[in-house]
Amino acid sequence: MIEFDPNVVCECGKVHKTDLENCVVKSGAIKDIPLFVKKYNCKKAYIIGDINTYPIAGDKIAAILAEAGIPSAHHIFPDRRLEPDEKAVGSLLMAYDASCDIIIAIGSGVINDISKILAHRTGHPYIIVASAAYMDGYASATSSMALAGVKVTVKAKAPEVIIGDLDILSGAPVHMAKAGLGDMLAKYIAICEWRISNLINGEYYCEHVAQYTRESLKACVDRAPGLLTRDPDSMDALFTGLINCGKSMDYAGVSRPAAGVEHYFSHIWDMRGLEFGTPTSSHGVQCALGTLYTIKAYDALKKVVPNKQKALDYAANFDFEDWGRQLTEFVGKGAEAMIALEAKEHKYDVEKHKKRIDVIIDKWDDILKIIDEELPTLSEFEAILDSFEAPKSLSEVGMDDSNLGMVLKSTKDIRDKYILSRLLWDLGIIDEFCDEVFGK
Ligand SMILES: [Zn+2]
Ligand SMILES: [Zn+2]
Repeated sequence: MIEFDPNVVCECGKVHKTDLENCVVKSGAIKDIPLFVKKYNCKKAYIIGDINTYPIAGDKIAAILAEAGIPSAHHIFPDRRLEPDEKAVGSLLMAYDASCDIIIAIGSGVINDISKILAHRTGHPYIIVASAAYMDGYASATSSMALAGVKVTVKAKAPEVIIGDLDILSGAPVHMAKAGLGDMLAKYIAICEWRISNLINGEYYCEHVAQYTRESLKACVDRAPGLLTRDPDSMDALFTGLINCGKSMDYAGVSRPAAGVEHYFSHIWDMRGLEFGTPTSSHGVQCALGTLYTIKAYDALKKVVPNKQKALDYAANFDFEDWGRQLTEFVGKGAEAMIALEAKEHKYDVEKHKKRIDVIIDKWDDILKIIDEELPTLSEFEAILDSFEAPKSLSEVGMDDSNLGMVLKSTKDIRDKYILSRLLWDLGIIDEFCDEVFGK
């Protein structure tokens, strides 16, 4: 496994650093918590969980702390399904015991997102005790939240300490680890699109960080079947892989190593869920399915022969206002911010497009080579999904699969990130392509 020295400048020109100071992955890891409370010179801990996560380790952690002479207070969210919104953050702030000076959260997605906002606002050190190997965001300094019913990213605080206690992780429901592996599988697309954007736009890219991510992914995929029996070695590989991908983002300074268009599929499904109440699934399950559909689309892209005139005509005739209306109809209120982004990005600017399409046509063979090198074939990927009994269609998880073409088209407006849907737009084929691959 590649190691990054924070004192050495990499070939890519960057010094690769991570903010993550401590990560303990082992059986009985929660017993180390008092060491960290003392390391940060803290006197009293505030333990946060919900009715699902607190019983897993809350009392145990309080007892371990008490034994080390460290008092604690706690908050247990009573919600059966806790939403990451202003109500949750507000109720936590109101319950918070201000005599505490270190925050310890037990959870994965939502509890972590909410608790790191409290840690950020109070400025206290933050320890996350993972309740499951569920996603790669444990170490991130932002929280994925809903504000006034719209999906937003909120500035928060990266944890000082991540605790991956294998006894806890192996005891978590299998579906949570399956979701965690789903978030890992997204890295196939992430690395592929990072290289494609590097080729087309000259975007920053580091092969060492990419390779670190690939190796972490491979270790997880090799041990995927063991997740079904909650084998501790498989959990170890998965949790370590998820943490490594968090570090990859720190090393690169961008989310490129960990997320590509498949994450935007998930994002659009979440936005529609918030706006219209359409069914959604967990982040990891949505990422795995997003990866499956993306691989299907890249497979179809290999048969495309780029046509410069067609691409230029499409860009010249593109009606951004009309597209904005379609987007608003499809994703609701969240479309407003997506439409506003264009004023900063100018991704539909015809002059910029002209330059890109020349590069795309010139480097088409290299683009196809990257796709071949980075992505499993559709049948290989389906075999990976089968190896840990993951769903292979949206309908299996109760979601709507009738509008995948529109989902893919909408992904190009989420962030300033060059992904498959941007490439399809540049080629001037996005409408017909989405119809052909995903049906009208
Ligand atoms: Zn580098
Ligand atoms: Zn993710």
